[in-house]
Amino acid sequence: MHEMSYVNRVVNLAFEIVKENKLRHVKELQIEVGAMAGIVPELMEKCYRQAVAGTVLEGSKLTMTPKAVTAKCDDCGTTYEPNRGNDYCCPNCKSHKSQIIGGRKVVLEQLLGD
Ligand SMILES: [Zn+2]
Repeated sequence: MHEMSYVNRVVNLAFEIVKENKLRHVKELQIEVGAMAGIVPELMEKCYRQAVAGTVLEGSKLTMTPKAVTAKCDDCGTTYEPNRGNDYCCPNCKSHKSQIIGGRKVVLEQLLGD
């Protein structure tokens, strides 16, 4: 269950933000979940509940926003979403050479609290 390692990373980051901003209460945690991270939302939620039990984050809402995989073409620099529709190649120059630049990880987007 690799969700737990993602949760730990996000939660540790959240604790740092809480400390830096001297927050007493956290209402919501917004995270971006990359399509390539292979996350099962239900498991993510479950791990989150376990990880934050008894902390300032307990009871906060975990909002997950799916993020599509994005790639940058090696040949012309176009940024695109590789999918079946474009045959996983650059829509501009049809190149197959690209670097995945987004949608691989779980990113803490925003923490709402006071
Ligand atoms: Zn291209």
